[in-house]
Amino acid sequence: MEGKIYSMDKFCIPAEANLAHAYIAASPNEGARNSAARSLAAAMLCEGGGARPCGACPACRKAELGIHPDIIAIGPGTDDKGRKRREIPVDTVRQIAASAYVLPNEARRKAYIIEDADTMNQQAQNAFLKLLEEPPERAAFILCAANAAALLPTVRSRCETLRINLPAEESEEAAADAKALLERVALGSRGGLFEWCHENEDMDSRRCSAMLRAAREELAGALRSRGAVELTREDCARLDALFARAGEYLRLNVGVKNVMGLIAADGIEMRE
Ligand SMILES: [Zn+2]
Repeated sequence: MEGKIYSMDKFCIPAEANLAHAYIAASPNEGARNSAARSLAAAMLCEGGGARPCGACPACRKAELGIHPDIIAIGPGTDDKGRKRREIPVDTVRQIAASAYVLPNEARRKAYIIEDADTMNQQAQNAFLKLLEEPPERAAFILCAANAAALLPTVRSRCETLRINLPAEESEEAAADAKALLERVALGSRGGLFEWCHENEDMDSRRCSAMLRAAREELAGALRSRGAVELTREDCARLDALFARAGEYLRLNVGVKNVMGLIAADGIEMRE
């Protein structure tokens, strides 16, 4: 994926740098991408005059407290059972479009944060594309996405992509989980894999999602014969598809227990 890579602990825009009117904040880690989007929104509205966000001016302080009237966060929302909805419908994008042409309350511009923007359905993305094609003069957009590739190429081409690095601790944890999983698969013991998946089915979905991503990176490394795991090319390709599918299930709010069940069932191919 294209785009600049930002590490969360150093998120800062130099005073002289121009800000684009649309960004994609991409990370499999929901907390990391949403928090980066908030820092970026603060940077867009910062009145400090130096590196942004300064963290000290009234705009930055309001942004940090989540009370800036010109920072508007919108996402898929929740259903009547409190579960996150699966997609952002076109109506939500139409509401954004209607309000984006209205002048800001107090800042130079409004910053819209669209959480889980990769869940915009096709119609919603097309409506959003129109907004990017005729951008309101005093509005900027930050699209948070676990998977930026789920956004239309035409949308992506009009945004600057920021890939947000996971905090180091979580990356290490994900790599260790992925290594443990792949070791079980490489041993070829269905019982061993089943046991491991069962032991780890209480893992939270964020950790599971980071693990799957780390496992796919490890497989990509193995295909370039640089990985630590001993798997055939066919196994690598098959597992990559399996982990991609498992990651997609997590994104659709399927529980970790079911995802682990899928990996336990399909992780090792039956051979004669
Ligand atoms: Zn500031």
